[in-house]
Amino acid sequence: MKVEFLPSTVGTVATKQFCISTVVNDTIAIDAGSLGMLWPIERQIQIEQIFLSHSHLDHIASLPLFLDNVYRLRPDCPSVYACEETLQCLREDVFNDRLWPDFVQLSEQESPFLELRTIQPEVPVKLRGLTVTPVPLNHIVPTMGFILQDANSSVAVVSDTGPTQRIWEVLADTKNLRAVILDCSFPNSHRWLADKSGHLCPELFVEEIRRLPDSMPVIAYHLKPCFFAEIEHELKAIRRANLEIGVTGREYVF
Ligand SMILES: [Zn+2]
Ligand SMILES: [Zn+2]
Repeated sequence: MKVEFLPSTVGTVATKQFCISTVVNDTIAIDAGSLGMLWPIERQIQIEQIFLSHSHLDHIASLPLFLDNVYRLRPDCPSVYACEETLQCLREDVFNDRLWPDFVQLSEQESPFLELRTIQPEVPVKLRGLTVTPVPLNHIVPTMGFILQDANSSVAVVSDTGPTQRIWEVLADTKNLRAVILDCSFPNSHRWLADKSGHLCPELFVEEIRRLPDSMPVIAYHLKPCFFAEIEHELKAIRRANLEIGVTGREYVF
């Protein structure tokens, strides 16, 4: 399984993400923060399914642009998978003709821009070569983590979240788990903000990863760029093998 955290900067490609998008096997996106900025355009055309973890802007910001970009350039439309609350936000707050044309209604009348598909907790979505299982996390809006599984490997994307429970139970029974990609948005100095906004800081992060086997690779993700150096310093102080900070643009193979 091939996983890439997309960059979200213009000019020099930075290792930090302002907006969140992850591409799996070139054809599936988890979130669409910067997906619609991806170049060359052929890479966007390849994306067939998009799974949205939740409705926050850093995860959906470029979705309208992406859909606009690939319309007419491909024979079919992309499918957008999300929980009902996130889909409701897209219908009411994004594709409402004010923020962006109503692609949902247009898709019912003309050649479709997108297909909305509702995901349910712990109900796997089987795609060509990959199964995606959503598991609810603990954030300030309904949010799903995702367990990605192919014939050989499983990888979990656990963001955005504060301290959570259910996904660790599900992962304990997940075969071939190769890595966990986990939210670490704030430094310990801003634990109050992590608490209020449903995120993790290194002190909370370390409690969460205790639920995993000691040797399990963990990739810290969703580090806020303005706190990056502080979070990095605190994560490096955690004594654990196989803990790293996700690097944008690098291709991870699991
Ligand atoms: Zn969020
Ligand atoms: Zn976020």
